[in-house]
Amino acid sequence: MSVESAADVTFDAEIPVVIIGAGAAGLVAALTARAAGAEVLVLERDALPRGSTALSAGLVPAAGTRWQRAAGIEDAPARFAADIMAKAHGEPDPALVDSLTTRCGPVLEWLADAHGLPFSVIEDFTYPGHGARRMHGLPTRSGAELMDRLLDAATRAGIDILCDARVTTLHMDGQQVRGIAYNRPDGSLERVACTALVLACNGYGGNRDLVAQHVPALSGALYFGHPGNQGEAVLWGDAIGAQARDLSGHQGHGSVAHPAGILITWATITEGGIQVNTEGRRFSNEMQGYSEQAAFVLQQPNAVAWTVFDSRIAGIARQFEDFRQAEAAGAILSAEDPATLASLMRVPPEALTATLDAVENLKRQDDPDRATDAFGRNFHGAPSLQPPLCAVRVTGALFHTQGGLAVNGEGAVLDRAGTPFPNLFAAGGAACGVSGREASGYLSGNGLLAAVALGALAGDAAAALVRPPPPR
Ligand SMILES: Cc1cc2nc3c(=O)[nH]c(=O)nc-3n(C[C@H](O)[C@H](O)[C@H](O)COP(=O)(O)OP(=O)(O)OC[C@H]3O[C@@H](n4cnc5c(N)ncnc54)[C@H](O)[C@@H]3O)c2cc1C
Repeated sequence: MSVESAADVTFDAEIPVVIIGAGAAGLVAALTARAAGAEVLVLERDALPRGSTALSAGLVPAAGTRWQRAAGIEDAPARFAADIMAKAHGEPDPALVDSLTTRCGPVLEWLADAHGLPFSVIEDFTYPGHGARRMHGLPTRSGAELMDRLLDAATRAGIDILCDARVTTLHMDGQQVRGIAYNRPDGSLERVACTALVLACNGYGGNRDLVAQHVPALSGALYFGHPGNQGEAVLWGDAIGAQARDLSGHQGHGSVAHPAGILITWATITEGGIQVNTEGRRFSNEMQGYSEQAAFVLQQPNAVAWTVFDSRIAGIARQFEDFRQAEAAGAILSAEDPATLASLMRVPPEALTATLDAVENLKRQDDPDRATDAFGRNFHGAPSLQPPLCAVRVTGALFHTQGGLAVNGEGAVLDRAGTPFPNLFAAGGAACGVSGREASGYLSGNGLLAAVALGALAGDAAAALVRPPPPR
């Protein structure tokens, strides 16, 4: 990773818009720039582009979409923005939050209309902190499908994606990017000049040193994102005087099946399930959110917990490919009563039975004020768990970092004085997102929101630098 002067550099080629990283952010930026008439090259370090996007559930939050309207869901970008700000303790840049929440719905509709991505809204459960049902996904509810469909769209749009090309160097001329250099598997170095550069190479979750420095609570945790995300964007940014923001911000997840290593949807909790430790006791308010729950789970004996739910909830969870895989892997235990389930889980049966009884008692309270437990979770209105009961052993993991390069509402990277670099943009995990400085600031979907909406904004802005002037 280096930054070098562009003086005396001979470039092998010149492409107007160069994008580093072929995840959701890079591909949406590429599709948008291409639609605006720009020639685009995407450089991807892996032989096959997957990124964290392919590991995700592929759920993108958006407000005011036609899918929400068809389902009778009332929502609006301003309401979505308020949810983001509330979850992130008012820390994100409000202008960026407005920009992303306004743009995301139209981008999803454009991806559906222009590129055939068949999004639909999740109608049967609400994610913590969302004031409306606004998560949109593809039929399999998997990020792998999102990647496959974006790659297919990029191919059809005539976008060049060069794989096995790890970008190592930015060539600068003052504040202006002149080009980049990338390594090929045979060790050779190639250089491309560009008019605009979009950093879409995600954050630093795969860089142990940067995680230890910025997110020490999860430095020993399983990293569940793409290992190729080594933090080059923030390292390059630091070297050129860019502003980084909220580097301690991250998304954890408190429900990764262990040892199967498969994400278990948080609907298991929001629909009335709970988490207990190996002693059969609850240890937190699970409804605060799955991100902050990672650290709570890691504090339990052996750094594991059990997510306990029932077969009705399993029916909802089964819409997710991940959950179906966990079932196929034998990770989901099931039993007709708490004592039998406890023996399968190898936790004390009396303790698990007492925990479930206490939760059911709270769910039965007519008075909402009496339905709150000692951790602050209010169970009023939550459906009771009915046999057969289910349980899955889970651990906490780091999913992705949320801090990154500060950008304006068009995706332009800001310098330390707050002035945009003239032709440098960042999107997705490379940019500082809208989750603030703590795990608890992450609202479900903030990751792909920054990838999809900021990708489109950055793609537009990059293309505007190279678009031929309109005829006079
Ligand atoms: C298990 C899991 C589940 C998740 N579920 C959701 C969800 O449902 N909803 C949601 O909103 N978010 C979710 N997220 C977060 C979401 O996946 C990310 O926020 C999002 O995918 C980031 O997109 P991106 O394009 O910035 O990064 P990526 O998809 O990681 O793409 C970055 C690409 O850049 C490439 N790259 C890196 N460095 C270089 C380099 N130097 N040169 C060339 N290429 C490079 C990488 O190989 C990679 O292909 C989840 C994350 C995980 C791990």
